[in-house]
Amino acid sequence: MTAITNHLPTAELQALDAAHHMHPFTANGELAEKGARVITRASGVTLTDSEGHEILDAMAGLWCVNIGYGRDELADVAARQMRELPYYNTFFQTTHAPAIALAAKIAELAPEGLNHVFFAGSGSEANDTNIRMVRHYWALKDKPSKSIIISRKNAYHGSSVGSGSLGGMSAMHEQGGMPIPDIHHINQPNWWAEAGDMSPEDFGLARAQELEQAILELGEDRVAAFIAEPVQGAGGVIVPPTTYWPEIQRICDKYEILLIADEVICGFGRTGNWFGSQTMGIRPDIMTIAKGLSSGYAPIGGSIVSDEVAAVIGSGEFNHGYTYSGHPVASAVALENLRILEEENIVGHVRDVAAPYLKEKWEALTDHPLVGEAKIVGMMGSIALTPNKAARAAFASDAGTVGYICRERCFANNLVMRHVGDRMIISPPLVITPDEIDTLIERARKSLDECYEILKEKDMLQSA
Ligand SMILES: *Cc1c(COP(=O)(O)O)cnc(C)c1O
Repeated sequence: MTAITNHLPTAELQALDAAHHMHPFTANGELAEKGARVITRASGVTLTDSEGHEILDAMAGLWCVNIGYGRDELADVAARQMRELPYYNTFFQTTHAPAIALAAKIAELAPEGLNHVFFAGSGSEANDTNIRMVRHYWALKDKPSKSIIISRKNAYHGSSVGSGSLGGMSAMHEQGGMPIPDIHHINQPNWWAEAGDMSPEDFGLARAQELEQAILELGEDRVAAFIAEPVQGAGGVIVPPTTYWPEIQRICDKYEILLIADEVICGFGRTGNWFGSQTMGIRPDIMTIAKGLSSGYAPIGGSIVSDEVAAVIGSGEFNHGYTYSGHPVASAVALENLRILEEENIVGHVRDVAAPYLKEKWEALTDHPLVGEAKIVGMMGSIALTPNKAARAAFASDAGTVGYICRERCFANNLVMRHVGDRMIISPPLVITPDEIDTLIERARKSLDECYEILKEKDMLQSA
C-alpha cells in the first residue's frame, strides 16, 4: 500500500476517509457520498485545503487555536520534550517539571484563590473530574446528599457520558442513555429566542432566578453545584443579559453551592480577559479549561480548583485520574502557548484592538435583511438569522435549514463560519488583524447576500 499523504488526489483521500474514519457529530453515510473537505496545512488564521483553497478560519478550529496556526515554537518545544521525557505519570507520588511549571503558571494567571490544577486530556474529561470532585467534596464535608449538579438547557460541557449529561443538548441526550442521575437543567438566558415581550434585563433576572427556584424545589441539602459557561459557545454564542450573572453569583453565595465556570472556550483571552469569569464578574470555585490552554496544538484540559475545595479534596485520596493527566509533552506545549499569549500581549490585542474593531463591524451586520440580532463578547460572536426582525421570528423551515444554507455559502466563499440552528457563529484566532477582520466581514456579507437570494428563490422567507 502506498503511503497515505497529502500527495494523493483529493478523491482518493476522501474515499479512504469514508471507508475507515468515523467522524464525530457527523452523519457518516451522508458525508461518504459528499466527501469530506481535506485540510492540508494552516498558517495564522488561514487554512489550506487539498484543492488549494485558502480559507479564513473564523472558528479557530473548534474555538481553540487562540494564537493562530503555524507557530514553530510549539513544535520545537514538543520535539524537545518528547526526546527528554516523552511520558511519565503523576499517579504514584511522582511528578515532572512540565506539569509543575504549567500548574504554577495557570495558578498565577487564574483569579485570586484558584491555585490548584487537576489535569485531564480534554474538556470533557475535566468536567467528568468536576462531577466527581464536587460530589466528593460534599461527602467529605459530611453532606453526601448534596449530589445534584444544576446546569442549563442548551449548554455544552463535552461529549463523554458525564460531561454530556451536564450539557443540555437534547440531541445528545437522545442517544446512549444520558443524562446520568442527579443532573438538573434549568433554562438558558437566550433573550432572542425565548424572552417573548420581556426586556433583556428582566429576562436575564428571571432566568437566573430559575436557579434559586430549582434549589428550593430540589432542596438545599441536595444541590452540590451549578455549572455554566460564562458565555455559551456551542449553544450558539448566547450572550446573557447584564443582569444574569450577578444574580447567579448572589444565589450561589446565598445557598453555598459551588460555582463551576466552564472556561473551555472563554478561557485564555477569548473574551478580552484571561478568563470569561473576569469579564462576567463572577467568582467560581472551579474553572474547567482546555481548548485555548494549548491553542489546540496538543490535547490537554483540566480543572482549576479553589484553595478551599483543594484542601478538602486533599484530606484523603481522590480515586480519580487519567493516564495522560499532566502529560509532559502536552504540558510543555501548553506552557509555551501561555508564554506566547503573555509575552506578545495577545489578550491586550483582543481587548484593545481586535475585539473593538470586530464588534463595530459585526454589529453593523444587523443592517442586512436576514440578520436580527448580532451579539459579541471579545472574539466570540453570533448573528440570528430571521425572516422577520421585529417579531424575532424563526423560519418556517426546520431549525438549522437556513443556517446550513448560509454555512455552505460561507465555505464556498472561503470562510469557516459555523451555524447552530439558524444562528451563525464565529470565534476566530485571537491574533486576527483588522485587515483580516475586514476580509472576514466581506466574505460573511457576500455569503449572507447569496443565502438571502437562495431563500427568496425557494420561497423560504416565511416565518414559523
Ligand atoms: C469543547 C467544550 C468542552 C469539551 O471539551 P473537549 O476537549 O472537546 O472534550 C467542554 N466545555 C465547553 C464549554 C466546550 O466548548
